[in-house]
Amino acid sequence: MTLLPMKRILLKLSGEVLMGNQEYGIDPAYVARLAEEVKAAKETGLEICLVIGGGNIFRGVAGAARGLDRTTGDYMGMLATVMNALAMQNALEQAGVETRVQSAIPMSSVCEPYIRRRAERHLAKGRVVIFAAGTGNPFFTTDTGAALRAAEMNCDALLKGTSVDGVYERDPKLFPEARRFDTITYGQVLSDNLKVMDATAVALARENDIPIIVFSIREKGNVARVLAGDGVQTIVQA
Ligand code: UDP
Repeated sequence: MTLLPMKRILLKLSGEVLMGNQEYGIDPAYVARLAEEVKAAKETGLEICLVIGGGNIFRGVAGAARGLDRTTGDYMGMLATVMNALAMQNALEQAGVETRVQSAIPMSSVCEPYIRRRAERHLAKGRVVIFAAGTGNPFFTTDTGAALRAAEMNCDALLKGTSVDGVYERDPKLFPEARRFDTITYGQVLSDNLKVMDATAVALARENDIPIIVFSIREKGNVARVLAGDGVQTIVQA
């Protein structure tokens, strides 16, 4: 399966990739490296939307397991994604890329609220738009936020940059001989409960026919390789 030419993409980065080699938080040097990748992708003429997770700082489920109210934990997780978005904005602007952060939870002294038409204007002006705070609702994830924004913004693909280089039949960290899929259908991901993105995100991508490209962001230059069609990745499609 090959991808059609793309004009606009949404790149989702897990919060954990912002840690670099740290155990927690944000490594500014590593975020700068990620920003260079986004800049290179933008220089190919693509319009770029970004969604960044918050798992490097806080996850609602983890908080709930330790006694925190789940909803409160989820709001804390969403706030964590705003911090990550600001770190990425800072790195992109230091690299000379104009950006805007739009948050699903309004916080007007920090960033813009999410307004789709305004995001369109930013993209038309060549800015990278970073969508923060996921969907703005507890019990969701930033993967679902990414699928939602990709649909709203009519993105041609949802790129998921993570620490694994694609979708495997079994967890490659536990089963080193596990096979990686080059392509896989949304249906198989859902029926086999494969760990790509949560089911809500995959279902939303399927309903809106948005291919999901899963690749490793840990290897330098991979965003460009994947976009050029010669990367190591899994494409989730119909
Ligand atoms: N979150 C939420 N609603 C959303 C997006 C995120 O409640 O729409 C919360 C949730 O607690 C989640 C945390 O924010 O665990 C961080 O997001 P996520 O786990 O998706 O980050 P990632 O795994 O991509 O780093």
